[in-house]
Amino acid sequence: MRDLTFIVLIKQVPDMDQVEFDYEEGRVDRSSAPLEPNPFDLNALEEAVKYKEELGGEVIAISMGPKQAESTLKDAIARGADEGILLQGREFAGSDTWATSLALGHAIEAVGDFDLIFSGEKTVDGDTGQVGPEVAEFLNIPHIAFVSGVKARKEDEVEVVSESWGATYVKSMELPGLITLTKDVNEPRLPSFKDKQKARKAKIANWGVEDIGIDQENLGITGSPTRVANMEVPPPEKRESMLLREDPGSAVNQLLEKLDLGRSK
Ligand SMILES: Cc1cc2nc3c(=O)[nH]c(=O)nc-3n(C[C@H](O)[C@H](O)[C@H](O)COP(=O)(O)OP(=O)(O)OC[C@H]3O[C@@H](n4cnc5c(N)ncnc54)[C@H](O)[C@@H]3O)c2cc1C
Repeated sequence: MRDLTFIVLIKQVPDMDQVEFDYEEGRVDRSSAPLEPNPFDLNALEEAVKYKEELGGEVIAISMGPKQAESTLKDAIARGADEGILLQGREFAGSDTWATSLALGHAIEAVGDFDLIFSGEKTVDGDTGQVGPEVAEFLNIPHIAFVSGVKARKEDEVEVVSESWGATYVKSMELPGLITLTKDVNEPRLPSFKDKQKARKAKIANWGVEDIGIDQENLGITGSPTRVANMEVPPPEKRESMLLREDPGSAVNQLLEKLDLGRSK
């Protein structure tokens, strides 16, 4: 059996329960909350590690982001990845989904031969769901999106359950290919204390533009065709609550009155 290579795409995102929004600028204030791996990418990683456990091979986690995204890659190593590669440098900053996918695609080509790429279905901050399928297009390989189950793991083919357009499909895909995974696919494992300790010492490869052979013009703002015309963060909804302590009959009447549906009308 040949050695299989699995690639997992992982983005570091702010904890969306704690993050604050800059209402003036209409953007997420990333510095306002702790950073963590995008939750869907942990499902992707778990599935790659399961594939490795069944058929052998190695799992390489790749992220594009600032230097602090190294911690997300170390977390991936604690959860079963063998290597972490971080694409970082100021040339990458300001990239839209097109430039991000192009850079990730070039990095995967620089890794060499691969069998299956795993990505989350979307991120919790950008939420476009574009990067996985775009990477597959740049690499000219097939992909299946919204995978909620993996039915058969083989050396040259994968069989999955995919949920799209309100229907459930069972699909097979020849490898090399890419799948994007939903939260229903598995329950990501928790790393042990020993695994965390080992991962803390792991060396994360930092790659820049020259390592992935990409023209700088295709990155950052210059390489990003998307223009954001305007962004608005809806203000938090104001909610009212009311405690009705009377007997059920008068409580119902009070509620109807409050809802302007009084019985007398
Ligand atoms: C004009 C413009 C400028 C921008 N400038 C910045 C900026 O300066 N800094 C910034 O952080 N964002 C910036 N963004 C947002 C940036 O485009 C997105 O963060 C990025 O393209 C990923 O998109 P997404 O979050 O919607 O991912 P999705 O498409 O929802 O992600 C799907 C999956 O792709 C993979 N993936 C996505 N992004 C990465 C990544 N970076 N590394 C590894 N895997 C990944 C993950 O597996 C993820 O689950 C900008 C966007 C625009 C339009």
